[in-house]
Amino acid sequence: MSHASNIVYPLGPESPHAFDIIPLQPRNGMLDALCPVCKGHGQWNTEIDLVSFRCKRAICDLCLGTGWVETGTDPVTIADITLSPEGHPQWVTRHVPVRTTPH
Ligand SMILES: [Zn+2]
Repeated sequence: MSHASNIVYPLGPESPHAFDIIPLQPRNGMLDALCPVCKGHGQWNTEIDLVSFRCKRAICDLCLGTGWVETGTDPVTIADITLSPEGHPQWVTRHVPVRTTPH
């Protein structure tokens, strides 16, 4: 039996189906505004099967996947995981350069 599929390839966050099955991100308390690129989703589909909803996604560059951006001049930090010199994963706080967003 073959599985039905209907695969589409959204070209970016403006494309139809780009945000199918992707929830809005909860607001990170430090950040001011919904990301103007991904509209609060933090990522979008680059490939999605409209039958099975299997998908591949791209992470938004502007908000780094948080769905929210800082509009003022406050420093932005994000939690990230890196590999320690001993080879163990560890949580770090990364400082993100302040970007100006289009208005
Ligand atoms: Zn974004």
